[in-house]
Formats: sequence, C-alpha cells, structure tokens
Amino acid sequence: MDLYEYQGRALFARHGVPVLDGGVAETVDEAVGLAERLNGRVVVKAQVKVGGRGKAGGVKLADDVDEAREHAGNILGMDIKGHTVKKVMLTVTADIDSEYYFSFLLDRANRTFLCIASTEGGVEIEQVAEETPDKVLKLPIDALTGVDEAKAGEIVDRAGFPADLRDQLVDMIVKLWETFVSEDATLVEVNPLVRTPEGRALALDAKVTLDENAAFRHPDHAELEDAAAVDPLEQRAKAADLNYVKLDGEVGIIGNGAGLVMSTLDVVAYAGERYGDVKPANFLDIGGGASAAVMAAGLEVVLSDPAVKSVFVNVFGGITACDEVANGIVGALGMLAERGEKVEKPLVVRLDGNNAELGRSILDEAAHPLVIRVDTMDGAADRAAELAAKGA
Ligand code: GDP
Ligand code: MN
Repeated sequence: MDLYEYQGRALFARHGVPVLDGGVAETVDEAVGLAERLNGRVVVKAQVKVGGRGKAGGVKLADDVDEAREHAGNILGMDIKGHTVKKVMLTVTADIDSEYYFSFLLDRANRTFLCIASTEGGVEIEQVAEETPDKVLKLPIDALTGVDEAKAGEIVDRAGFPADLRDQLVDMIVKLWETFVSEDATLVEVNPLVRTPEGRALALDAKVTLDENAAFRHPDHAELEDAAAVDPLEQRAKAADLNYVKLDGEVGIIGNGAGLVMSTLDVVAYAGERYGDVKPANFLDIGGGASAAVMAAGLEVVLSDPAVKSVFVNVFGGITACDEVANGIVGALGMLAERGEKVEKPLVVRLDGNNAELGRSILDEAAHPLVIRVDTMDGAADRAAELAAKGA
C-alpha cells in the first residue's frame, strides 16, 4: 500500500525523522486556517500518489496567507497524471542549499534490502542513475544486522554526503531504518533530503510503501487506507475474503489455486489474440475449498464487473473433488437467482482432476442455459474468449 506524502511524513515524525511543521487540508478554507497557524510562509503541495508533482505545478511556495489561499485554490482539484488532487499538504518552508536523495527498499530481485543514496537529489533518481551512475550509491543491507550508527556512517561517507552533516545524517538514517523495519515498509524514500543554509538536514518529501502482508500486526495502519481510491470490486472481494485482482480485459476468471489461475490468465490472453485481443478481466483464486458459498461469492464479484462479457471457471479437482465443485457451481447459480441477481453472461466451465467425470455429469444434468462445459483448458479458454468477443 502506497501512502500519501502527508501520511509518510507523519510516520517519519513518529520515528523522530526531522520534518517541517504542517498539516493537511481538503478545502481552501482549511488550507487558509493552516497557513495562518504556520505564519503564512508555507509550501502548498498536492497530495497524489504519483511522483513529479513539482514539475506538474503541484508544489508551490507562498509568502503569505493570501498566496497560500491562491495556491490551494489552484492545486485542489488539479489533475496530475490522471490523479485528481483532493488534499493539499501545507508545511512551513525551508530554504534549500542542496538537495539529496535517500531511500531504503526491498530489493526483490536480489532477495535483500537495499539503500540508495545520492548527492544529486530533487530530480528522479532513475535519471541520475542513467546520466551519472557513479553518483548513486547502492548498498545492500543485511536484514539480520540492519542499520546501526556504524552502517549509517558508512552510507554517509560512501554516498559522498558532506562531512559537516555527518552526525545529523547518521541519526536520520538510523531513524529511517527504524521506520522501515518497525512499520513493515517495503520502501521509504526521501527526495529531496535537503541541507538548509543554516546547515540543517531535513526530510522534505516522504514516500512510503507498506507491506500489506504485515497488516495483521499494524492495526493502526488500517486508517491509512484510502477507501475512495481502492477499486470497488477489489473492496467487495476483500470483504468476502477472496483473492481478487482487477485487470482490464473482458473474460472473468475463476479458478482454484494461484498457479492454475495465473496460467489461466496466460492461456486466455493467448486465445484472446485470435478474437481481437480479448483479455482476462481479473485474477480470482477461490482456493482449495471451492464450496457453493465461496463460488457464489466469487461469481457475484466477477459478474458485477461491467467489463466482463464471459466467465471462465477453471477448476482442477484435488482434495476438493470435481463433483463438489460442480455442486458448488450449480448451488452458486441457484443462490444468485434466489437473491434476484441476474446471471446473463455465459459461463465456460472446465473441470479436470479428481472425480472429473462425476463433476461433468452433474453440470450436464443441471443443464443450466448459461453453462457451457469444455473438457480442455485450451479449448475452454478459446470458447470464453470467443464469447467475450461476441458479447462486447
Ligand atoms: P515531487 O516533485 O512530487 O517529488 O515533490 P517534492 O515534495 O519532492 O517537491 C518538489 C520540489 O519542490 C523539491 O525538490 C524542492 O525543490 C521543492 N520544494 C519542496 N518543498 C520546499 C520547501 O519547503 N522550500 C523550497 N524552497 N522548496 C521546496
Ligand atoms: Mn520528491
């Protein structure tokens, strides 16, 4: 889960990372109130989960309350790379001598944590890495030893940060590491980390990504979730405890087991090339159980996606045998009908594995007008893609 800057800044402050005094506002009046409290000289910053706000006109300095009002009025409602600005953050301004870059992140490819630091901050680090790679320090961090003062000192020296800021930076880097570990983040990024003319080191931007798999041990993180920004279908699926990811195609996918569902996505995308580039509309793994109730919950979510034109139910019977799954499908369609939910989209079902024959005969006997049984995965993918193309 990516956080807004104001939320990341609050986490920084909680862990003692030096940030500027400020607050967040949803209306111009709130922004004016904040600007008054902060004595007028403020920076007004668009709160959107996308970088490059500065360049897009989403970061403006104000000398007094009137200017802050004007900037807040201009920035609220602004569109930045497809994101509408609903909140602005106001902080007192810092004068800037130099801008640096600093981050800790999870380096999945190398299965380690990584520190990236550069004396060239304020711009995109990818650009610095391309143009002047020798100015970007990349240092793997051992998860067991982490970052203590000695390690932080090594980072400061090797990144080429100025010696007179060493103590402040060591302190800040240790606290950023504490933030990273104790909040279960996969990214904490400070760009720019600045030096003021008075020689103070400050975090002027905060980009934090939290690991959702660790949410169970952070009940306080729940309030950081931006309900308005979460896809409504994903929200519904989450409430029903389903592993669902919205994609942008037309063939709804339901399967049991993450591996099977992922290969189903591939097979459907491949088959879809023959029908004008039809694609999978979602990932949905209903797990091993695949009971009627779970199948109904899954079907309900997939069918309520207006982009879905056909559904491919791909099940490989294991411990939960195909006859149980077939009964689950029939039961689910019955449940939806009882609830008055219209099922109008064709359902291509492929059953294989444990008790496949029995499962297939259950579906054949039920003879639901929208259920089309196909025995092979490739054949079923082809049929589902064809039906989606027709329905579109
Ligand atoms: P981003 O463009 O989305 O990464 O937004 P940032 O928060 O990093 O701000 C962009 C730029 O605005 C920074 O690199 C700074 O140059 C400038 N900026 C942000 N806050 C201040 C401030 O308090 N004072 C001054 N002088 N400049 C600021
Ligand atoms: Mn930035």
